[in-house]
Amino acid sequence: QKVLVSGANGFVAVWVVKSLLERGYSVRSTVRAEEKGRHLKEIFASYGEKHEIMIVSDITERGAFDEAVTGVDAIQHIASPVHIGGAHSDIITPAVQGTVGMLQSALDHGKSVKRIVITSSCAAVLHFDSKPQVFDENDWNEQCLEVLARGDSDPSVTMLVKYMASKTLAEKAVWKFWEEHQNEIKWDIVTLNPPYVFGPSMHKMSTPSDLNASSCAYVDVRDLAEAHALALEKPDAGSKRIIICAGVCKWQDFINAANAISPPPRLSQPLPVGNPGSGIASTTAVLFSYKTNRAIQILGLQYRSVADITKDILADFEARG
Ligand code: NDP
Repeated sequence: QKVLVSGANGFVAVWVVKSLLERGYSVRSTVRAEEKGRHLKEIFASYGEKHEIMIVSDITERGAFDEAVTGVDAIQHIASPVHIGGAHSDIITPAVQGTVGMLQSALDHGKSVKRIVITSSCAAVLHFDSKPQVFDENDWNEQCLEVLARGDSDPSVTMLVKYMASKTLAEKAVWKFWEEHQNEIKWDIVTLNPPYVFGPSMHKMSTPSDLNASSCAYVDVRDLAEAHALALEKPDAGSKRIIICAGVCKWQDFINAANAISPPPRLSQPLPVGNPGSGIASTTAVLFSYKTNRAIQILGLQYRSVADITKDILADFEARG
């Protein structure tokens, strides 16, 4: 079984590639340029021909993924702009056109494709309100689209709004495509909706300051990668949105977890202490959280805790000096 992974050099996708290779799949990774594939080639060298790299330089081009989808059994579409900066054309266009383009290529050339998993986001689910809310897979972030409609010159149209809109519009386009082409397609679709993703990084990054922009609901990147693999394998996942969220936390919980590690990690700067009593346990009402039973029921996912994530992130920082 061969799986196509788009944007394979990114933080999340590298772990997805690893998880798939470890489960015995062959993987075709797409990256934008040859140099972005070099690190991937190195870290997965032991898999030999089971891991191949293909360049797709512009995912917004018509037919960009035509060659990439040929001969694969499944697709993990993960590529999407995450660094929150840039114009409409830098964020929303590649998110939407890249996603629809992938589906169109699968329709035209993915004769052996059986399932497509798309990395959406809780950004496509939540909206902000002054009252505490619990979101589930029936919720859509219409709020960011209403704000976006005010136009680029309106100060409320922030980069975060554009990012949230890019994920909402891309996921809406997925389900619209699926509805419109149901009679022609032989595959089904799963969208995964994670909140903030944390964890050790395997993608190319020289110092912690290179961390991606989207690094307080949370999930560990390794659990999200496992969710991507399970979403291919579990028949009941087909045609569903699935929120992949371990829980809610505050930044203070990471600080407390870091200070509880014994022996303490050897870092170049002392750990902050913050206000130890102000973690999530001190909160009487959490402004937003998610119902997470679908991922547990369908995928059987078990999540790493804030303590596990913090320990592994700091060990990763330590290893990088
Ligand atoms: P990264 O920035 O690490 O990876 C993003 C990937 O998408 C890279 O391979 C990048 O390629 C590619 N990409 C970005 N813009 C374009 C573009 N215009 N054309 C083609 N490829 C592009 O982000 P993450 O790994 O964190 O995110 C992966 C996915 O997970 C995204 O869909 C994101 O929205 C989603 N997500 C992430 C969350 C998080 O907290 N990290 C939370 C919720 C969802 P290149 O390196 O060449 O720029």
